[in-house]
Amino acid sequence: MAAEVGAPTPADVYRARARIAGRVARTPLLSSPRLARACGADSVSLKLEMLQPSGAFKLRGATHALLALAPETRTRGVVTASTGNHGRALAWAARAEGVACTVCLSALVPANKVAAVRELGAEVVLAGDDQDAAVAEALRLAETRGLGYIPPFDHPDVIAGQGTLGLELLEDAPDLDTLLVPLSGGGLLAGVALAVKAVKPDVHVVGISPQRGAAMIESLRAGRPVEVAEETTLADSLGGGIGLDNRYSFALVRALADTVVQVSEAEIAAAMRELHRHERLVTEGAAAVGVALLARGEVPGGGRRAVVLVTGNNVDMDRFTRLICERD
Ligand SMILES: *Cc1c(COP(=O)(O)O)cnc(C)c1O
Repeated sequence: MAAEVGAPTPADVYRARARIAGRVARTPLLSSPRLARACGADSVSLKLEMLQPSGAFKLRGATHALLALAPETRTRGVVTASTGNHGRALAWAARAEGVACTVCLSALVPANKVAAVRELGAEVVLAGDDQDAAVAEALRLAETRGLGYIPPFDHPDVIAGQGTLGLELLEDAPDLDTLLVPLSGGGLLAGVALAVKAVKPDVHVVGISPQRGAAMIESLRAGRPVEVAEETTLADSLGGGIGLDNRYSFALVRALADTVVQVSEAEIAAAMRELHRHERLVTEGAAAVGVALLARGEVPGGGRRAVVLVTGNNVDMDRFTRLICERD
């Protein structure tokens, strides 16, 4: 791998774990004999990251990046441009640490999402007509007000923070041979695979994206970061680009993912129903893509002991209720 200067290492993941200890949940691993039967494996375990207090694993990276800032930057505050789980996580972490948090949002963001960010105690700055304009404003505020800009995935401290999840897996599922990871910007896969492969290099790491708008997978195929048209998907937390100027997550995913696969909207919906009906879990679409893949009837790479990352529960409950009443 052509390691970028400052790219995160396994040692950074261990340091991140010490730093965020007590500030994020150590989430449980739930064994699913039913899913193991469905894909012919010896065991399938679900890592329940939606039990983080902000509703998704992103609290790990956001908390770590915030704590890693220079004290004088932290005193001034942090800024980002995400409405999704990263924005929620950063607002949550900032409130917990007593740090001011600004979230730049475009005029396209619906009022209920703007209100949700404010409810978490963040200051909302409305800027421009699209996500690019919101990011530009966040960078401008970082520059002019001296705030710490914390992006959702392409940042060494964010990646190291997500990797702490992998250290828990090494303790709780030391014999795992296959890891199924929802894939968008790649911060999660990069961090977790970095931690797990440092100890168990033969673990087969599978990145899973929806068929609609899979920017990382298209970039891997092209051999460089590319833009793809954004499309609506049930896995809305997996939408968005990886950045044409991507510095860390693309190279790490290219080096560490053994297989990447895309799943359909119908498969994602069926997996959300499966998780609800049989595991009694509320999950968002992004969190269900690993189960969607196993439901095809086999573990990629022929693995026997699979761990599936179930990453978040940020889903509109009216929509969820309708979805679970439908049939596959
Ligand atoms: C962000 C997110 C992912 C993907 O993480 P990346 O680091 O962007 O690849 C998966 N699931 C959920 C619920 C998320 O919020």
